[in-house]
Amino acid sequence: MRNKIVAGNWKMNNDANETESLLKKLKNYKFKNDVIVMVSPSFTNLQKSVINLSDSKIEVIAQNISELEKGAYTGEISPSMLKSIGVSRVIIGHSERRAYYNETDQLLKKKINNALKNNLDLIFCFGEQISDRKNKKEFEIVNNQLSKTLLDIKKPDWDNIILAYEPVWAIGTGENATPEQAQEMHLYVRNWIKINFGLKTSEMVPILYGGSVNPNNASKIFSQADVDGGLIGGASLISNDFIEIINSF
Ligand code: PEP
Repeated sequence: MRNKIVAGNWKMNNDANETESLLKKLKNYKFKNDVIVMVSPSFTNLQKSVINLSDSKIEVIAQNISELEKGAYTGEISPSMLKSIGVSRVIIGHSERRAYYNETDQLLKKKINNALKNNLDLIFCFGEQISDRKNKKEFEIVNNQLSKTLLDIKKPDWDNIILAYEPVWAIGTGENATPEQAQEMHLYVRNWIKINFGLKTSEMVPILYGGSVNPNNASKIFSQADVDGGLIGGASLISNDFIEIINSF
């Protein structure tokens, strides 16, 4: 039985006060089910959030890390820095980082390896553009993204990896993948893991869907056999919506 997971990607939103008030609303809510909830405040709010949530089950995760471990790299954040403030998971490969910060598969592979080497768990994002889907190339694109970054992963490291299928055309657009489209891709990804790492690993890795999930569409998407939860952007900034999404399982 795989974990059910809902992670909020707060991106470059919420200053210190806004972060605190959103955390207060989430923290005081008694979630009625067994879903693992994660939130990703900005770097400046991470440590405070960890302290704030120390008596809560909500996990604080980071939005990015360097591919390097230490040294003269102005502005970068290392895995050990995150671990030293109690953050044990990071998002890698988000389409906004790929598109706006030129993060290539080659760089993402280094980031993944840097995280795993330093015992930092990760959520790895991937997904096709609308033009890929129109040209019926979504499986080829996803296969490439996964093969270029994850093929050398050591089997035990899969215990520390969550995957997130995020079709770029669905992120922040209000146009979600249909539950059937999500399921079809998630099954494809699970088969990719099975072919390369075996049945047991493929059945154990959580695969989240991300892209315009909201309180109205969450339950249908989450009810798909190979969808283990969601990575939520815009709706995770609104406490009531995020709570409703979490309660959609
Ligand atoms: C995201 O940015 O990871 C995301 C899924 O955004 P949204 O939910 O706003 O589409």
